[in-house]
Amino acid sequence: MLYLVGTPIGNLGDMSPRAKEVLSASDVIACEDTRRTGLLLSQMGISGKLFSYHEHNKAAKGPVLVRMMKEGLTVSLVSDAGMPSISDPGQDLVRLCIDEGVDVSVVPGPVAAISALVLSGLDTRYYHFEGFLPSESKPRRQRLERLREYRETMVIYEAPHRLNKLIDELIGAGFGDNMCAFCRELTKKYEQVIRMNVNEAKAYFENTPPKGEFVLCLEPLSETREEEECDIDSLIAQLEGTGMSTKEIAAEVASRTGANKKDIYDIIVKRRKDVM
Ligand code: SAM
Repeated sequence: MLYLVGTPIGNLGDMSPRAKEVLSASDVIACEDTRRTGLLLSQMGISGKLFSYHEHNKAAKGPVLVRMMKEGLTVSLVSDAGMPSISDPGQDLVRLCIDEGVDVSVVPGPVAAISALVLSGLDTRYYHFEGFLPSESKPRRQRLERLREYRETMVIYEAPHRLNKLIDELIGAGFGDNMCAFCRELTKKYEQVIRMNVNEAKAYFENTPPKGEFVLCLEPLSETREEEECDIDSLIAQLEGTGMSTKEIAAEVASRTGANKKDIYDIIVKRRKDVM
């Protein structure tokens, strides 16, 4: 039997009594970082049953765990923080268990994404969980492009040293005026939620370098904004064939749509670069 056991995202008080019970009763506790989980478990008087299972050894270690479960052992899977399988290895082990007929159960615990969402003040009825954007540039650009299509609050994980880069990328993708809740160090001593639009956040985080763990909850682009952008785009395309200069096109589009002349100028320059 496999238990997916939620552990705290920063506050030991969030360890549930059932999580403690299940971990105590498990024969094996699979975790990403045996040192980190060892520390957590030692606070509960549990020791000696840790098994390393992470992104880089999961292909080899998954079948070993499944074999143990088939032999009758109870295995619990925990993440470094929060719920296993959420931006963490775990999903492959669940799949393997399902394929091999091993029972899987859950002991729910905190999730950084949901904790951030409920604090964000943004729409919680519909949301899209993005987690970490890919780090390689092409898939990352494709995901950013995809984010423009969502009409739900978007929940994004990011490391503090990459937050400023992400803010620049979100502005580049058209989210500059959108509200964003930067949820930092949730459940910890210095928990903080910074609510501002992405343009404002750029200035804020340039002056206050990001520290700690962050979840971003981002307001989606609206249909109207997309339509406006479409209008602007097609207007630019029409005027580009008329021999007008970039400056003249920017002024004309700005006066017809009410958009900012400098923004339009930048769009025209970017379009030309993209075509080249
Ligand atoms: N499994 C975890 C969960 O259930 O949320 C997520 C693990 S993921 C590897 C780690 C990321 O989660 C961090 O980079 C950060 O974006 C987010 N995170 C985890 N703990 C957090 C906290 N206390 N406050 C804010 N974000 C947190």
